[in-house]
Amino acid sequence: MTRLNWGMIGGGEGSQIGPAHRLGAQADGNFVLAAGALDVDAARGKAFAQKLGVAEDRAYGDWKEMLEGERDRPDRVDLVTVATPNNTHFEITKAFLEAGFNVLCEKPMTMTVEQGEEIVRVAEKSGKICAVNYCYSAYPMVREMRQMVRSGQVGRVRLVVANFSHGHHGDASDADNPRVRWRYDPGMAGVSGQFADCGIHAMHMASFIAGDEVRSLSADFASTISSRELEDDAMVNFRMEGGTVGRLWTSSVAIGRQHGFDIQVFGETGGLRWASEQPNQVYYTPVGGRTQIMEKGEGSLSDEAGRLSRVAIAHPEGFPLAVANIYVDLADAIKGETRDGLPLAVDGLRSMAAVYAAVASAQDNGAWVDARPPMFQ
Ligand code: NAD
Repeated sequence: MTRLNWGMIGGGEGSQIGPAHRLGAQADGNFVLAAGALDVDAARGKAFAQKLGVAEDRAYGDWKEMLEGERDRPDRVDLVTVATPNNTHFEITKAFLEAGFNVLCEKPMTMTVEQGEEIVRVAEKSGKICAVNYCYSAYPMVREMRQMVRSGQVGRVRLVVANFSHGHHGDASDADNPRVRWRYDPGMAGVSGQFADCGIHAMHMASFIAGDEVRSLSADFASTISSRELEDDAMVNFRMEGGTVGRLWTSSVAIGRQHGFDIQVFGETGGLRWASEQPNQVYYTPVGGRTQIMEKGEGSLSDEAGRLSRVAIAHPEGFPLAVANIYVDLADAIKGETRDGLPLAVDGLRSMAAVYAAVASAQDNGAWVDARPPMFQ
């Protein structure tokens, strides 16, 4: 099998998400790390890239140098991952798409709705793939839930309830720690704190499983630690195009909740439940029947869930291999196959539209607001 050349921007030594991308991209032999501009500090980035096996001439000091260095190479990278802080995603993603590279961008894809629309347009014009790393949607049992909804096993979805609430910013005495503080500073984080950071994962997953898009929403934001300008807790009610009702709670002050991402889908003939801290199981209850625990690796699962599982039943694969599933779909898509589970720029745009709608609603006492991007209204 020919490996695809892969380049990474951000995700340097000590970063949070960098290791998951490196494990994920290289887990199945699809990609080899061929180039990188890994760190905001050029020397650190070059040294770390070489430590990871990147040739000296492809260990770049910054992303502009990488763009110039890769642009005309016959063996140029087939995919670029953007894993830098949020306020750089737009500029880097746009530049690489315009130069004809496929891109996987971290979430949130952009800082504004206008930038999101611009990325959608640029990706379409370039004919290249622009994926967004909504990696939780790539857990095999999340794909299984999506297949069950698609095949009508729970009937029409009446209600989706999603939570992404953790307690890791709940210590008021740590609120001024620079690694925490920037997330609630509009100058660094944009218009929203916790909803833009975690809530959009939950909202994407609700759409992904229900097979429907958010049309309108009403939000209540709170800064429970009063020094914070942006919200650290949010409750968002939403309605989907097809009439499904959505409830979403996201918080960073829910002390005792660890990762805290879970979702329930309630249809006319059954219910489904999944939690990221026990990602191998889906609880399925048919109406009037007993709850069944479905397990990753079972023989009876859909082809989609089977395709994205590697190790035997009851063995955890975990977060890096959910990220790996994004790379599996990307490698297939780069080779021309259709992978409809891959989150794309339109999903990143819809998230940004939901963020701005939630901010407007919260500022207007929870008024219902159109959450669709202007280009889809
Ligand atoms: P981090 O602060 O831990 O690491 C950021 C890395 O990017 C550092 O190595 C830094 O040196 C490097 N960097 C910064 N500016 C750069 C530049 N201009 N060029 C090259 N490198 C640069 O941040 P993180 O927590 O890893 O988050 C990075 C991104 O990943 C964010 O957008 C975040 O929202 C996203 N994220 C996504 C998930 C997920 O589940 N999909 C999880 C965590 C973080």
